[in-house]
Amino acid sequence: MRHNETTANLLHRVHPAIADFTPYEPGKTIAAIQEQYGLSRVIKLASNENPLGTSAVVQEVIRRHAAYSFRYNQAGTPALSDAIGKHLGISSQCIVAGNGSDELIDLLIRVKARPGKDTVLTFCPCFALYVLQARLCGVTVRQAPLNPDMSFSFSALLEQADETTALCFVTTPDNPSGYSPAVTELEYLARSLPPQCLLVIDEAYMDFVDCVDKYSLLPRLGELDNVIILRTFSKMYGLAGLRLGYAVCPPWLAQAMLTVKPPFSVNHLAEAAGIAALEDTAFFQASKKAVLQGRAVLEKGLTGLGCTVYPSQANFLLFCPPPEGNKSAQTIFELLLQKGIIIRALQSYGLERHLRVSIGNKEENILFLEALKEVL
Ligand SMILES: *Cc1c(COP(=O)(O)O)cnc(C)c1O
Repeated sequence: MRHNETTANLLHRVHPAIADFTPYEPGKTIAAIQEQYGLSRVIKLASNENPLGTSAVVQEVIRRHAAYSFRYNQAGTPALSDAIGKHLGISSQCIVAGNGSDELIDLLIRVKARPGKDTVLTFCPCFALYVLQARLCGVTVRQAPLNPDMSFSFSALLEQADETTALCFVTTPDNPSGYSPAVTELEYLARSLPPQCLLVIDEAYMDFVDCVDKYSLLPRLGELDNVIILRTFSKMYGLAGLRLGYAVCPPWLAQAMLTVKPPFSVNHLAEAAGIAALEDTAFFQASKKAVLQGRAVLEKGLTGLGCTVYPSQANFLLFCPPPEGNKSAQTIFELLLQKGIIIRALQSYGLERHLRVSIGNKEENILFLEALKEVL
């Protein structure tokens, strides 16, 4: 782009749908806040990353594979699909790996929904990517409100479903609340949606729940041929920057997705890292322990400071600052930034009074609570 050319006068040169597009708003980065406030140490609890970092075992595997970066890997990464299938006890024909689950969300919409005809159904607020990618694909989005306590009303969702509904996206545990419905409710939803509609259950945070069987529909996929489950290596496996997620779905859908997916969107290092990460059960267990302990510490600390904390099955907590305090959520967010602590303000989710904090390591959690106490 030429420097003197503003975005506005570029618009007539691109697809008109791009004109009123608001981009995804990611968590602020450590480097950006260090520069903005001249800070040497910044703690990031904004993007639900792993508090233990990247597994040392996986780092070693990435180092070993670095020399082969000049090679194309095998299209569609079948070795990785095999490893994921084995890990889950599911046929690898049901697995599609993607460049993060973000790519799979986009791919599912493209493969299933017809622009200008079909619709996508989800809650409001929800993970922004469902809405952004649907719009980019020219597919109308219908949204049903969450209950005031952030739990799900599947009847509100079903009311909006009809013969145009191609896909229904549900996140569990939900982002940004951490709410997770019982698996029986999800099964009811899967059986109640119109026959042509696929139910996409985004389980990005399922690794953090106290008991997977209570919340995940994965063991029932064999009986439900309209359900897709999305999982990611970005959170519990500590590989957000490498970009790796996967879909578990009926083989016919996996085949359709692999037919149109850019063949090398999952890169060689991500593939090797993913296979190694699945084997590194010690890191998984340590991460889970750190997050569950940290979640309890933060929940107690936030409640002690007078905040309203939503029950969470994920690696983050949604909370409202004390109602009697005179500072808005946005002000608290900004004052924490000045102290070198990045959490997440949620205007982009339409939640003005709420904040979200990712579970950090022991030290980060304490420093966050101390800073918040000062700010409040
Ligand atoms: C973090 C997150 C993901 C994971 O996205 P990747 O593209 O795999 O990094 C997916 N869905 C939700 C709701 C998330 O919060």
